Amino acid sequence: MTKRLPSAAWLTAILVAVLALAAGSVVPAMPTAGSASGSAGASGSTRPPSSLADPGEPGTAGSDGAGDPYYPTDGNGGYDVTGYDVSISYDPPSRHLDGDTTITAVALQSLSRFNLDLSGLDVRSVEVDGAAATFAMAGEHELVITPPATAVRRGSTFRVRVRYDGQPQRLNERVLGAGGWHVNTLSGGAVAAGEPHSASAWYPSNDTPRDKATFALTARVPDGWSVISNGVESTPVSVDGWTTYRWKLSSPAATYLTMVAIDRWTVVRSTLPDGTPVVDAYASSTAGARSAENRLPAVLAFLSRQYGDYPFDAAGGVFLPGSLGYALETQTRPIYPPDVDITFIVHELAHQWFGDSVTVTSWADICLNECFASYAQWQWQEDVEHTDLDEQYRSEVTRADDQFWGRRLYDMGAGNEFRAVYSKGPLAIHALRRQLGDETFNTVVRTWLERHRDGNASWPEFEAHVQQVSGQQLQPFFDAWFRGTRRPPDPYLWPGSLHG
Ligand SMILES: [Zn+2]
Repeated sequence: MTKRLPSAAWLTAILVAVLALAAGSVVPAMPTAGSASGSAGASGSTRPPSSLADPGEPGTAGSDGAGDPYYPTDGNGGYDVTGYDVSISYDPPSRHLDGDTTITAVALQSLSRFNLDLSGLDVRSVEVDGAAATFAMAGEHELVITPPATAVRRGSTFRVRVRYDGQPQRLNERVLGAGGWHVNTLSGGAVAAGEPHSASAWYPSNDTPRDKATFALTARVPDGWSVISNGVESTPVSVDGWTTYRWKLSSPAATYLTMVAIDRWTVVRSTLPDGTPVVDAYASSTAGARSAENRLPAVLAFLSRQYGDYPFDAAGGVFLPGSLGYALETQTRPIYPPDVDITFIVHELAHQWFGDSVTVTSWADICLNECFASYAQWQWQEDVEHTDLDEQYRSEVTRADDQFWGRRLYDMGAGNEFRAVYSKGPLAIHALRRQLGDETFNTVVRTWLERHRDGNASWPEFEAHVQQVSGQQLQPFFDAWFRGTRRPPDPYLWPGSLHG
């Protein structure tokens, strides 16, 4: 993520709802939704699906949170999602969404009941392995599902199909900027994005970075509108005035890194030298971003030299008709405000390794994403503009005050995740590089990304990794820079070539 002031063109959720009501909007039918509208109970299934437990095995309820201390009710426990198959139909004029999402998951315990996260939409039906399940909404975003029979067996793979509709909404965030469903008043288009969560605004999910899964989207919009999402596209199909777009992410993604962007895009397709497809989408007012985005192949080549091979099978960017207040590293295809320069692109593409391929375990680990993506901007300046990074470091250290040093880079507390990582973060990574020397630093970074590719990792694991690979005892260094709230003592502030 890169912070940016939002533009006024994105409606608040409440205003969206009021306008649509006033317009008496007509709800388009979802052709795949079938006729199921009753909630539950009456299963027509004649034999118990394979994942449902034998009668007598009671199971227990999955927890309503995934365990992140900063956002205790984000995500859920008791199962591990392996894939999302999301199908939506969206009508921009009425802002109505019909959804039909199937989640494939493995039960980590025998489940008498479990939760998904969904916010602001009405659930019409839920099936578990093809049999109707009972469900209820609880709290801000908990969809509580009770499968038929007694339980889903521990270790079994099961499928949950949820049909739902309504007007998707923004999610309220006090500190990090609005996430969820954003409608642009100028273009009439919409984008779903946000950190630390956004998926629950448009599809039922285990909305936590801890549960990564593959993601496939089928999205149907009226002809003339187009849909951009993550990963690789299929050829759109137009029938009866509606066009269906399909996108697929084959590498697992955290839910906050999935997105959908609906607008009247100008789409530019190209390929990287190795054949990787690049899809760039520009809103009408974003022509100025093209010269920056045209450097994507050079940026990815540069980053690959630092980090190892690009981790995904697709690339590109989405240049929105207005600023949401941030750019975000949505997987394979970041979203950007209209007027970006090359530093945004370097930052969000660096996240494809730091954040997307290797994802935080907890939000306390956010420096793994932002300190490195911010430092990538430094490295790009060093490589392309021949900036003297030691000089830049010294001048930033000279300017730093007690408040600057007082902000922690690790475990900074909920709501403080983005206060220090963009400013103190790159200084800390530069100091680490000088402490280790270039060769060891590069080895540390590459082996880290290789070891945790497509997975999750924590900051304490990174500290251990650095010490193991370098053979150096660096806990005092990490304590001073990443956990401390004061200017690091001189030996840690001026390591290597910074000394003297
Ligand atoms: Zn970032």
